[in-house]
Amino acid sequence: MLTRWLRVDTRSGEPPSPQSGGSGPLIELRGVVKEYETAAGPFAALKGIDLRVGSRQFVGVVGRSGSGKTTLLNMIAGIDRPTRGEIYVGDTAVNRLGEGELAVWRGRNVGIVFQFFQLLPTLSILDNVMLPMDFDGRLSVRAQRERARRLLEAVEVAEQADKLPAALSGGQQQRVAIARALANDPPLIVADEPTGNLDSQTAETVFALFRRLVAEGKTVILVSHDPDLVGKVDRTISLSDGAIVEAGALDAEPAAADGTGPARLAAADVAPVQRW
Ligand code: ADP
Ligand code: MG
Repeated sequence: MLTRWLRVDTRSGEPPSPQSGGSGPLIELRGVVKEYETAAGPFAALKGIDLRVGSRQFVGVVGRSGSGKTTLLNMIAGIDRPTRGEIYVGDTAVNRLGEGELAVWRGRNVGIVFQFFQLLPTLSILDNVMLPMDFDGRLSVRAQRERARRLLEAVEVAEQADKLPAALSGGQQQRVAIARALANDPPLIVADEPTGNLDSQTAETVFALFRRLVAEGKTVILVSHDPDLVGKVDRTISLSDGAIVEAGALDAEPAAADGTGPARLAAADVAPVQRW
């Protein structure tokens, strides 16, 4: 169950984020092509991607370096635009939004987690987490601060709130980045190699955080070149040379037969989940 405080409470009574519109997919890509201009002419990093992702799924995207994983994530998150094709998230045709609209949409609807955390080095941890709420402008500064503290508590780095990012370990910085991604309570979290710069034990704890988010109702798309990802997520999408070579089923059951995956987590780990 979602706990109420994770919701962004706005005075207008406006829903915090668009829903996927009933039983349809949260994300749909149709014929998405992305060409980069290079000295040798246009290079197609995505060669016509058709994909549907249901809400509340934990989706892993795997493939070799250069296969197009980051490009695909950037299309879905509205960080970059397709050369051709359509991208829907909920009821929004993301590829049709203008620049300003896209920035507002992204701020409310997508939480983004990067390999190298990308916290702003001159801002405190607390201010880093408040920043997306500040841009969004729906909450008072006091409410932003309160929410940022609670998010930092939820990812267990609240004691670091007044420090600068450089004072934290990599694992702590990535927890802060996850708190920041949750700031505006987006339905969708995308993460590009989020554990790629962490030791394996720290990577496990960060990965477990993503599982908690899925158990709490988020859709998480996580890119990794770690082959172990298969079996830890609900569904794996494999990319090769800008094309999907394997996509799993839209309504795939959680793959966690060993009890370590998201299906069991929701039932077995109620106390930490409720802290979200
Ligand atoms: P991955 O994340 O799987 O390593 P990317 O999506 O980063 O792959 O890149 C896919 C392909 O597109 C690669 O061949 C890469 O060199 C190329 N590419 C990525 N970004 C650009 C760019 N801005 N300009 C030209 N080529 C690019
Ligand atoms: Mg990449």
